[in-house]
Amino acid sequence: MELTLDSPVQYVPRVGPRMATLLKKLGIETVYNLLTYVPFRYNDYSLVSSASVVRPGETVTVIGVLEYIRTFMTKNGKRLVMGRIRDESGHIDLMWFNQSYLVKILKEGDTLSASGKVDWFGQKIVLTSPEYEVLQASADRQTSLHTGRLVPVYSETSGLSSKWLRGRIAYVLEQSLPLVQEQLPDEILRVQHLMGLREAIQTIHFPPTLEAARLARERLAFDELFMLVLRAQQQKLAWKTTLRSLSFRVNAEQKNTFITHLPFTLTPDQVTAINECLTDMEQSVPMNRLLEGDVGAGKTVVAAAGMYAAWCQGISSVLLAPTQILAAQHAATLRNILEKPHGIPVYLLLGGSSKKNANQTLAGPGIFVGTHALLEPSVNLPPLGLIVIDEQQRFGVRQRAILRQQTDSKDMAHQLTMTATPIPRTIAQTVFGNLDMSVLRTLPTGRKPVKTWVVPKEKRMAAYEWIKKELTTTHSQAFIICPFIDESETLKTVKAATSEFAVLKTIFAPLRVNLLHGRMKNEEKTKALERLHDRKDDILVATPVVEVGIDIPEATIMVIEAAERFGLSQLHQLRGRVGRREKSSYCLLFTEQESPEVITRLKALETEHSGPLLAELDLALRGPGELFGTRQHGLPGFTLATLSDTKLVDRVKRAVTSLTRVDPQLTRFPLLRERLEESKIESIQS
Ligand code: ADP
Ligand code: MG
Repeated sequence: MELTLDSPVQYVPRVGPRMATLLKKLGIETVYNLLTYVPFRYNDYSLVSSASVVRPGETVTVIGVLEYIRTFMTKNGKRLVMGRIRDESGHIDLMWFNQSYLVKILKEGDTLSASGKVDWFGQKIVLTSPEYEVLQASADRQTSLHTGRLVPVYSETSGLSSKWLRGRIAYVLEQSLPLVQEQLPDEILRVQHLMGLREAIQTIHFPPTLEAARLARERLAFDELFMLVLRAQQQKLAWKTTLRSLSFRVNAEQKNTFITHLPFTLTPDQVTAINECLTDMEQSVPMNRLLEGDVGAGKTVVAAAGMYAAWCQGISSVLLAPTQILAAQHAATLRNILEKPHGIPVYLLLGGSSKKNANQTLAGPGIFVGTHALLEPSVNLPPLGLIVIDEQQRFGVRQRAILRQQTDSKDMAHQLTMTATPIPRTIAQTVFGNLDMSVLRTLPTGRKPVKTWVVPKEKRMAAYEWIKKELTTTHSQAFIICPFIDESETLKTVKAATSEFAVLKTIFAPLRVNLLHGRMKNEEKTKALERLHDRKDDILVATPVVEVGIDIPEATIMVIEAAERFGLSQLHQLRGRVGRREKSSYCLLFTEQESPEVITRLKALETEHSGPLLAELDLALRGPGELFGTRQHGLPGFTLATLSDTKLVDRVKRAVTSLTRVDPQLTRFPLLRERLEESKIESIQS
């Protein structure tokens, strides 16, 4: 049977259904998957040596005739296979443990190539547990796969060895590699000095040198990023050419009215961001903008400006928050900025009570604030001018699609997504490349940075003492964040939190300590926050629920338990919960871990107070998954490229731009278009 690149891998000779099942565990289902299953390292067996000159400590390949091979029993009952190969210069002994089947596979008189480490065995020099391969009589060294060269090592799974994979990959390289078509335009290959695709696939498996392997890897990583950037650009193009929206124009006077009625002066970044949004909303193409700014940077007022613009033309807007607490807080803010001064009604729609509130939606245009409860079919939203989504990664693609359909207008609403997660530049250009971005870089008031300490376990008690004293003398409040409680917590973890809470209560008595966790009813949660806000409690033991936005003015101390479990960005956002006023504020990072790596990583927070910089650090240290937390982040899984490779991302971006400038629809590159379709990833921005 003819193999194509799409053939199921089981049809590759010597694979079959059973091995195919194992291959599937490695993500290999087709011939093409097998071809592009890249090794994670190479064993360097390229030093081919004469038997007589090898030295202990060297890793070498010796080629010669197998003189004998036999099983021995060691004193402590282990089976030992000993063999000897002879070449023109002399001989060397081979030794394997627990591999007695070898005496059946290898025959005296075979021409054997053996690679491994040279060692002493008693008085003898031996190759211990060498990789081996029988060479055909006519063999030249070029055809060896497992010895005598840089040998690829693959991730294995039980029942499926690197050696076996190597054999099957060598087979498909020979049979099917010619079917692979170059997907990048010649021009790009030339300008970017890239290896051809077929050569890269061949070379990444069996490189002549490590430098060649590096170039092959670079070419394949280039392709991964290229598809990502191209896809983002195509989405942006499709958005602009296929979607329509109402255009909202505010005149200078209206804008002035909005600004002069604010209870504060806008920062320059806020002014810029507001202008960017308003300009977008004047277009009849829907805005698709991401507003990024540290916690407390003042994103809400930017969103409010857009809502105001829509309302000036009698159209409603919606703000979606990830939690009810935040929805309530946003509603309060918007009442201050929009309802009080301009009479724009703000409706808070929360789950459970949405039926009752739904009637309110008939009251006329306004601002609707809620969680995904707003997406329930029972909620009858009027046509929307602007949809604002706070902390977008918590909303799935499907939910957003529903929201779009729900608004019974043909024109699509403008969209503004707000996030406190700083987006490193490389990610902004690749994964989020289809979004326009506004960034609030500075915080409104010249707030003092939150003094931060990493607290090792032997200092824990002293730290508790210090906190107690600080709270008592300055009359301020504290959060204690425990990572083991979150919104999906089990009864068991709630129990753990509750007992921890009991301990803390005793430690901090007579200060008043309360608990807030995800298993509590909404009314209870709100009550807990109100108590803190009204200073009926001094300390709130809470879950990372408080991460994204509660404003407790008198809170000056943030304690984070098991801080090592969080990414730097997340920790930075958590400490942004305190220090909202002029008082000095503190963040204590507790960890029981002692490894220098953990401590060094956490200590970055002691000296670094820039969210974006910490995000870059996170990206470099732990990868994109960490950066966006464990929630569905929609980032694609990479095998070769890394999103922290700024240089490569820049090159890719230049290449994509040069291509789409001359051929935006990719009419001359059907293969790329096809690949683009295939590479559709469930991602947050689609
Ligand atoms: P975030 O970006 O974290 O969502 P908010 O929009 O909630 O921040 O704003 C945080 C606080 O700062 C709010 O109390 C808000 O009223 C206030 N604020 C926003 N912009 C300014 C400003 N330019 N000057 C002073 N205070 C501001
Ligand atoms: Mg906010």
